[in-house]
Amino acid sequence: MVYRKSCGGLLCRESFDNLHQAGTPFLALPHHDLHQILERKVRQVPVHRGCTIQQFQLDSRGVDVVLNNGEKWHGDLLLACDGIHSQIRQTIYPDITLSDLGLFCWRFITEKPEGIQTDPQLFFGRNSAFLIYPMINNRVYCYGHIADSCTKSLPDDKAREELQSRFDGYYSPVRSVLTNLPPSIRLICGRMQVMPKSVWGGERALILGDAAHGCGPILQQGVAQGLEDASLLTEELNKTEDLNQALHSFIFRRSARVNWVGNYSNTKLKDLSSTEEISRNESLKQNGPIHTCGWKQLFAMPL
Ligand SMILES: Cc1cc2nc3c(=O)[nH]c(=O)nc-3n(C[C@H](O)[C@H](O)[C@H](O)COP(=O)(O)OP(=O)(O)OC[C@H]3O[C@@H](n4cnc5c(N)ncnc54)[C@H](O)[C@@H]3O)c2cc1C
Repeated sequence: MVYRKSCGGLLCRESFDNLHQAGTPFLALPHHDLHQILERKVRQVPVHRGCTIQQFQLDSRGVDVVLNNGEKWHGDLLLACDGIHSQIRQTIYPDITLSDLGLFCWRFITEKPEGIQTDPQLFFGRNSAFLIYPMINNRVYCYGHIADSCTKSLPDDKAREELQSRFDGYYSPVRSVLTNLPPSIRLICGRMQVMPKSVWGGERALILGDAAHGCGPILQQGVAQGLEDASLLTEELNKTEDLNQALHSFIFRRSARVNWVGNYSNTKLKDLSSTEEISRNESLKQNGPIHTCGWKQLFAMPL
C-alpha cells in the first residue's frame, strides 16, 4: 500500500506480504464476480429475484412476510441484509439515523493507468483523497472523496464534471485516470453515511452486513465483515437446536469486532480528510499507512 501527496511525492508505504499470519491473499474483484462465486455455493437454495419485503410481522413462533408481488412466507428467522439504508432496520429501530462523515464520494472501475503496478495507491490533497486499487484484467477500482457537508447528490453528467474539477490539481496517475475516463463508465457517487453504532435486531429478526454495521471504507472491510457475519452465524446455528442461544452467541462473538472496525474506519477516515495537511502528512510519514496498521490489529483479534 502506497500513500502519496496529490503531486505524487511519497508519504509512506508498507507491503501486503506477510501481513496475514496464514498468508491469506488480498483480493480485489468486481461485485458481479463475487455474486457469481457466492451463488455457486447456494444452488440448492430457492432465490426469488426482483421482489422486496413489503410487510413483516414478528412473534415468538417466527416471522410472517408479505412480498411486493403478493406472496406470503412464514419462517423461523428473518435475516435483514438489505444494506446501509435497510428498511427492515428502520422499522425495528425507527429512532436510529445514519451519521454523515462530512464527505462526498465517487466510486468506479476503469482501465489501469500507466504507473500503477500491483500496489494500491492512495493520494491526498488538502481536503480530498483518491485511491487507485489494481484489479484483474488490467482494470482498477477508483475511489475519491472530498470534504463537503452540503452536496446531497449529483445527476450523472454533473457527477463526472465535478469529479474532474475537484481532482484537477492531482498529478498522474489520478489525472490520467480522470482525463481518459470513458463516457460509458458508470460512476457511483453520494454522501458517506455510516451506522452510528451496530444493531442486531434479535429474536426472530437478525440484521447483518451494512444494515447492522455499515462503516467508512478506509479498511475496505465492508464486504469482509458481511461475509464474517454469514460465516459465524452458520457456525453458531450448526452448534445448537436452540435458535435464541445461537443468536445470542453470534451477537456476542461479533459485537466487539464490528465495533472496532467501525470506530477505526470512521475515525481514521475523518482524520485523513482533515485540512490540517502538514500535521496529517507528518503523522503518516511517522506511523505508516492507516490501512496496513489497521489490518495488523484486526488480524490479531479473535474471530
Ligand atoms: C464509497 C464506498 C467505498 C467502498 N469501498 C469498499 C471496498 O473497497 N471494499 C469493501 O469490502 N467494501 C467497500 N465498501 C462497502 C461495501 O460496498 C459494503 O460494505 C457492502 O456492499 C455491504 O454489503 P451488504 O450485502 O451488507 O449490503 P449491500 O451491498 O448494500 O446489498 C444490499 C442488497 O439488498 C437489496 N435490498 C435493499 N432493500 C431491499 C428490500 N427492501 N428488499 C429486498 N432487497 C433489498 C439491495 O438491492 C442490495 O442488493 C464501500 C462503500 C462505500 C460507500
